[in-house]
Amino acid sequence: MISGPSITCDDHMQKYRHINIEEQNYCSPIEEIHTMYGSGANSNQPIIVLKEGTERSKDKEAQFNNIAAAKAVADAVRSTLGPKGMDKMLVDTIGDVVITNDGVTILKEIDIQHPAAKMVVEVAKTQDTECGDGTTTSVVLAGELLKQSEALIDSNIHPTVITNGFKLAAAKAVEVLNNIAVDVSNDEMLKKVAMTAMTGKSIGGEEDHLADIIVKAARTVQEGKRVDTSNVRLEKKAGGVINDSYMIQGLVIDKQRVHPRMPKMIKNAKIALFTTQMENKKTEVDAQISITDPSSMQSFLSQEEVLLKKMVDRCKEVGANVVFCQKGVDDLVQHYMAKQGIFCCRRLKQSDMEAIAKATGANLIGEILEVQPSDLGTADVVEEKEVGQDSMTFITGCKNPKAVSIVIRGGTEHVMDEVDRAMTDGIRVVGVAIEDGKVVAGAGAPEIELELRLAEYAATIGGREQLAIEAFSKAMEVIPWTIAENAGIDSIDAIIKLKNAHEKQKNGKYFGLDLDTGEAADMLKKNVIEPLRVKVQAINSAAEVANMILRIDDVIASRRAPPTNPMGDPNMGGPGMSGIGGMM
Ligand code: ADP
Ligand code: MG
Repeated sequence: MISGPSITCDDHMQKYRHINIEEQNYCSPIEEIHTMYGSGANSNQPIIVLKEGTERSKDKEAQFNNIAAAKAVADAVRSTLGPKGMDKMLVDTIGDVVITNDGVTILKEIDIQHPAAKMVVEVAKTQDTECGDGTTTSVVLAGELLKQSEALIDSNIHPTVITNGFKLAAAKAVEVLNNIAVDVSNDEMLKKVAMTAMTGKSIGGEEDHLADIIVKAARTVQEGKRVDTSNVRLEKKAGGVINDSYMIQGLVIDKQRVHPRMPKMIKNAKIALFTTQMENKKTEVDAQISITDPSSMQSFLSQEEVLLKKMVDRCKEVGANVVFCQKGVDDLVQHYMAKQGIFCCRRLKQSDMEAIAKATGANLIGEILEVQPSDLGTADVVEEKEVGQDSMTFITGCKNPKAVSIVIRGGTEHVMDEVDRAMTDGIRVVGVAIEDGKVVAGAGAPEIELELRLAEYAATIGGREQLAIEAFSKAMEVIPWTIAENAGIDSIDAIIKLKNAHEKQKNGKYFGLDLDTGEAADMLKKNVIEPLRVKVQAINSAAEVANMILRIDDVIASRRAPPTNPMGDPNMGGPGMSGIGGMM
């Protein structure tokens, strides 16, 4: 990990800590809980509650500490937001390098210690598992919500009021988003969703080609309304260029046939899937068999052979010409199968077996001798082919495959990794868009609409919650603001133009920031489109984590190592807890 200054809390915090130290003797809260004075006869006897060395911060101090840490996480990924966002190069302790623009990847790679900062990282992870995109957005939003609430806490608004207001605002935001969402009308729209998710990743301008592949793959594995994107498998093979990547109507399995005399290619494949070994079982207990007579030795051995041969015969009987076995395959079985012209791979991963079953319609069979013709799957061709330097098995021409492989090509490992991440995001968002059938315009359009509608809503609420909803509304601005900033466009101008367009233009709610011109433009026409779920999830989880952090008024931390920073050092996230150290 590259070392450097740790990310620190802002001036405000330091100011607060000074006041705290001067005014109320910093250590008092710790002592208070360490030693409580009992009442009654022994009222002077202190009762030790916490172990010595336990760190504790309370009330505003705890809140500002946590907020500072969460904001630091948001600041760490901010510069990557949007299509013109920058990349980060992450170097781990053993020197491995990851170059990425992907929020969640960055946060997973860096070593974060502060407990509140970790909570924010969780938001990115949830966003990633739920939608596959919008990770940076959710983290930046969470940071901004907390930043806005700082001012409220400062003016003595109780955190409970703030969290209530945030909850109301988040619910209203989801309602507004649903109102501005449009239906997915065709696959062309899905392609744009994929391209929007992939912009900004370093994939050499091949978005168009990759988006085509993505939509085709998602449509292929779709079952009813459901798209299980884990059935789209990405295989990376170094060599060629990104544009050589392709989807096959079937699967690629990283295995070779077990015996060189087996055919390299089988047409009209009938595929059997065995989950048990094609070997003689070893006895579980050690057994000794003493054989006295040479003829019984022979019959013992042939007994075993007969059993193995029966397995191959059974395959032949049912018409299987391809066998995939999850476990080992005996030499003898290999020999017999080669003789019968059967193609066989062994020791496949369970996930491979399941994918083949989905792609070819085969059943997974445990009892080899019980296999039936109806258990076999079909494919036009099963073939061992060279890709780059290795051979892999291609199962192609499947009739109605519910699992498919995409082969990613690229010059270097780093390029392919980023293509892999971009395509993973793309497949996930397209899946989500197919499942929900709803999308929204991007490029800051929904956030500006939310800001305006929430401000109106706040006025109808009144009371102190109104202030929290206004803060929430203001926080939405951070997304277009940052997208503009990262593209070198003046953020203030951009926000003004966007707000104007939303209020005055026809279809104003679709107007986002065109980064080429710096003007507001209809993003549905400009093809910047995102699934509704990405935005809903980002807002909900950002609000949730902000609320969770705001409700904490007491941090009691057991000591692991002696503090490295003296108390009062502004570089420190809090007593005994470091900020985000060791980053960048
Ligand atoms: P995240 O991890 O949140 O998905 P990204 O770096 O992918 O972060 O940026 C997403 C943001 O960029 C979204 O708000 C999206 O609307 C916006 N965006 C994507 N493509 C464009 C584009 N061509 N022009 C302007 N904004 C875009
Ligand atoms: Mg994205």
